[in-house]
Amino acid sequence: MTATRIDGKTFAAKVRGQVAEHVTRLKNDHAITPGLAVVLVGEDPASQVYVRSKGKMTVEVGMKSVEHKLDINTPEADLLALIDQLNTDPEIHGILVQLPLPKHLDEDLVINAIDPAKDVDGFHISNVGLLGTGQKSMVPCTPLGCLMMLRAHHGSISGMDAVVIGRSNIVGKPMAQLLLNDSATVTIAHSRTKDLADVVRRADIVIAAVGRPQMVPGDWIKPGATVIDVGINRLDAPEKGEGKTRLVGDVDFDSCAAVAGAITPVPGGVGPMTIACLLANTVTACCRANGLAEPVGLTA
Ligand code: NAD
Repeated sequence: MTATRIDGKTFAAKVRGQVAEHVTRLKNDHAITPGLAVVLVGEDPASQVYVRSKGKMTVEVGMKSVEHKLDINTPEADLLALIDQLNTDPEIHGILVQLPLPKHLDEDLVINAIDPAKDVDGFHISNVGLLGTGQKSMVPCTPLGCLMMLRAHHGSISGMDAVVIGRSNIVGKPMAQLLLNDSATVTIAHSRTKDLADVVRRADIVIAAVGRPQMVPGDWIKPGATVIDVGINRLDAPEKGEGKTRLVGDVDFDSCAAVAGAITPVPGGVGPMTIACLLANTVTACCRANGLAEPVGLTA
C-alpha cells in the first residue's frame, strides 16, 4: 500500500484563504480589523524566523500585525506590564508570547497574565480547563491543525483508535483532548510507555509528537492507519553540501508511507497548519470579542 499524502501546505493555504475572506467581511460589514500582537523576548534565531513569518502571514490575510521585540534581559515586571497594556488594547484581539522565554522569566506566570479571550496559543490555564471540559475555548494551534486535517480526511473520527505519542502541554495533551472531544478512543504514550510498538500497532490514527528523528518505523503502523507527524528535527545532510541540514519528522516517512493509508510529510505537513491556525484563532477571538458569529470550520 502507498499512503495518500496529506498536503498540509495546500490545506494551510485554504485555511488562510478562509481567514482572509472572514477578515474582509469584518472590515466591510463591521469596520473591524482583527489584530494580532506577537511578543518576542531575546534573539533566539529560530524564534525570530517564526515571528517574522507569523507577522508576514498576518498582514497577508488582511489583519493588523504588531510585533514587540524586547531585550533578552527584560525584567518580568516590564513584560507583564506590556501584556497588561495589550490585554486592554481594543485593536488587539490575539496575543502570542513566543516561547521559550529566557530562563529568568516564569513562563507559566507570563502565559497566565494574558487575557484568556486573547490567548490565541490556547496555553492559558483557563483555556486548558475549558478544552478539558469540552467547552468553547482557544485551542492550541498545532493540535488544532492536526484535528482539521483529520476531520477533512476522515469526515468523522468517532470510535477510531488514536494513539498520541508525546504528552507535552503544547501538543500531546491538547491533541489527546481534541481527539477525545471528537469521540475517538485515545491512548497517550510517552517516554515511560512499555511496548510502544504494540501500543502504536493498535491505532487507526497515530500522532507523533516526540522530537526524535524518524523514531516510528513502518512496522509499528497498522495497515491503512492515518499518520500525523508533528515532529520537526534537523539532520545533517552532507549530500546537499557542507554544513547543510534537512528536516525530518518523528516518523520514518518512507517505511510508514508504505503501510499507512494516509500520512503527513515533514516539511509540508503539520508545520504550515500551525500558523494558519494561529490566524484562524485570531479571527475567532475577534468575532467573540465583538459578539459576532464565528467563522465556520476554523475552530474545534
Ligand atoms: P516535548 O519535548 O515538550 O515533549 C516530547 C514528548 O515526547 C514528551 O511528553 C515525552 O514523554 C515524549 N517522549 C520522549 N521520548 C520518548 C520516547 N522514546 N518514546 C515515547 N515518547 C517519548 O516536545 P513538544 O513540544 O511536544 O514537541 C514535539 C515535537 O513536535 C518536536 O519535534 C517539536 O519540534 C515538534 N513541534 C512541531 C510543531 C509544528 O508546528 N509542526 C509545533 C510544536 C512542536
